[in-house]
Amino acid sequence: MTFDDLGLSAELLRAVREQGYSTPTPVQQQAIPAILDGRDILAGAQTGTGKTAAFTLPLLCRLQDDDSGHRVRALVLTPTRELAAQVTENVRSYGKYLPLRAVQIFGGVSIRPQVSKLRKGVDVVVATPGRLLDHIDQGTIDLSRLEVLVLDEADRMLDMGFIRDIRKILKQLPDGRQNLLFSATFSPDIRRLAEGLLDAPEEIQVTPSNSTVDRIQQVVHPVDKRRKRELLSHRIGREDWRQVLVFTRTKHGADRLAGQLMADGIEAAAIHGNKSQGARTKALAEFKRGGIRALVATDIAARGLDIDRLPYVVNYELPHVPEDYVHRIGRTARAGQDGHAVSLVCIDEQKLLADIERLLGAPLEKQVLSGYEPDPRIKAEPIQRGRPPRSARRGKKPGGRPRGGSPGNARKSSRKSGGGRRRTG
Ligand code: AMP
Repeated sequence: MTFDDLGLSAELLRAVREQGYSTPTPVQQQAIPAILDGRDILAGAQTGTGKTAAFTLPLLCRLQDDDSGHRVRALVLTPTRELAAQVTENVRSYGKYLPLRAVQIFGGVSIRPQVSKLRKGVDVVVATPGRLLDHIDQGTIDLSRLEVLVLDEADRMLDMGFIRDIRKILKQLPDGRQNLLFSATFSPDIRRLAEGLLDAPEEIQVTPSNSTVDRIQQVVHPVDKRRKRELLSHRIGREDWRQVLVFTRTKHGADRLAGQLMADGIEAAAIHGNKSQGARTKALAEFKRGGIRALVATDIAARGLDIDRLPYVVNYELPHVPEDYVHRIGRTARAGQDGHAVSLVCIDEQKLLADIERLLGAPLEKQVLSGYEPDPRIKAEPIQRGRPPRSARRGKKPGGRPRGGSPGNARKSSRKSGGGRRRTG
């Protein structure tokens, strides 16, 4: 099957050709004709499957047909700023031969340029829920002509506590629109959201586990916690890794590790939710350009990051949620290339490893590296998820640190008006 068989317009096909895509991915093959037909969609597809083009191309095709004078006709909701920026970039590149305007709307940056773009008129809005609600509250966005709503990475949005914000937004939208829901996983909460939102949806399921994950060489290095950093620097240096995305569980941990890698002579930067949008964009650009070798990220900050030809992903710390492991390693081995996922696992993380292996349905290969053999005398200690209580912090050992704790790791109650829980990662 080629893109020409899907019913897209000549302008869109031209843009797709310029991207260098020859064959539509499975989710594109299934979603594009159904969306062009006006159907609602419930799609199980995660980043790396080509899902963004799967909704963006037909959405643009539908908007192309009549000119509303740049009223907001399509809204894409995403969990993170990075993903919003990336989807907008996709909308712009696929829509480059169409007279449509897109705007990205997210927090952490001044609201004024967004207001001014909205006032001038846009066709497609790509937004994170919190900032969109700010615009709704301030009356700076008119959604009364909306025709298509996309919830992208809906599972993430729910994980991040956005459900109340989403429901508030839904109340503002006109009836009779087309709804597209994309999610990597389907929890009962997602099913409930889908039931209330979608009308006789076309259900699409693509399994990246067989395509993407199988091409990734995954290995676990058992190692003591205090020696992880040394082992990482050693491998990056000795094997001359030019571009590696490293995951930590906490923002504090990301900052600390980036600093330590720098001290080891490896150009590194951290991205997480406490960094300004400008700093995050700059670090990502530097990383893509090759100026930074190691980008250290939390799960939330890395969501939706699209980095071409990323050869290495390192789990410096395993995630609490096993699905995050799949999301993390899905950053590599994109678009048919090989990739490596290396996990540094200490004794405290055995349960997390077991959860991941259960999800994957198979054990991961373990390789103890010579010189980094775990000390059998060290006993497992529980990993703390939030900031430890004051007493524990006061009592920490000299040179040690509160385990796993950073203020940013705790879920926060955020927006004054929204009140929804949100992980800012
Ligand atoms: P996504 O799942 O939307 O995050 O897309 C993952 C990556 O696949 C992006 O870098 C896209 O540019 C790329 N991509 C999307 N569709 C295709 C296609 N049909 N052929 C090759 N690459 C694609």
